[in-house]
Amino acid sequence: MADLQHIVEEIVAEMAAATERGRIADYIPDLAKVDPARFGMAVVDAEGREYVAGDHATRFSVQSIAKVFSLTMALGMVGDALWRRVGREPSGTAFNSIVQLETEHGIPRNPFINAGAIVVADVLLARHEPREAIAEFLRFVRQLVGDATIVIDHEVARGEEATGFRNVALANYMRAFGNVHQPVEKVLGTYFHQCALAMDCRQLALAGRYLMAGGVNPATGRSVVTAQRARRILALMLTCGHYDASGDFAFSVGLPGKSGVGGGILAIAPGSASIAVWSPGLDSKGNSLLGRRALERLVRHTGWSVFEAGGGPLRTGASRG
Ligand code: GLN
Repeated sequence: MADLQHIVEEIVAEMAAATERGRIADYIPDLAKVDPARFGMAVVDAEGREYVAGDHATRFSVQSIAKVFSLTMALGMVGDALWRRVGREPSGTAFNSIVQLETEHGIPRNPFINAGAIVVADVLLARHEPREAIAEFLRFVRQLVGDATIVIDHEVARGEEATGFRNVALANYMRAFGNVHQPVEKVLGTYFHQCALAMDCRQLALAGRYLMAGGVNPATGRSVVTAQRARRILALMLTCGHYDASGDFAFSVGLPGKSGVGGGILAIAPGSASIAVWSPGLDSKGNSLLGRRALERLVRHTGWSVFEAGGGPLRTGASRG
């Protein structure tokens, strides 16, 4: 589909020219060093075709996007029992907020805010030591992508271990409520290493294929999760994937998406495409500023919004408002 390649290239050119690029997440030491001028984009469609442009082959820290994969693994381990320890509601608060935990008895609102992902990491540690849990997580992601070269950036993880005091507070607070079972250092070590997963846009888009394809990895034909579970993960991405900007992301993009403070966004057009964008500058809510703008453009051209009447097929030509 030459048209889609053209659209992706046009979007990348537009984003390259943008002067307002947001702010790098400098609270994680290694992320502060990333060049804000970078921009990459990759789209993988249901037929397996790939459309890439810009810095699509540069690896970046996926950060909170990893929460999609750790949630998928935790659901595979404990199933719906997970929902006794983590909610399924948008929080309306920042990704690292602690305020709701007191009134809600240490049960995080959803698995995509930090508190929720820390509980998910605790679940993954129930049967393993951190080293094994991290290795298993990496194996899972490598399988999704079909790429054994994917690694975790240990420098990034170490930087967060040294400076992630808010996460330490969240984990200890939940431990006090009995919702973190393992020692806090082990849980956070696992969580930080998941966040420090390094991938490029193409790899990230490939990793998201199972969510595009009803739970099946189209490359292997193997089921990763049931179709119902894939739908539910997508529902959580739509409602909670951009923290207190999730409503706004649904409003302007209309796709389930998950952001990370590394500047990446994974967005899924169910049945049509898995999309990854990367631009390190963030908006005030910690989501990639240009990443979101790029997705807005893409959806306007393709009609991939989940709210599009009879949507799905790529429609090019005059862009719609
Ligand atoms: N590792 C980051 C943190 O815990 C993840 C945050 C994010 O990507 N929103 O602060």
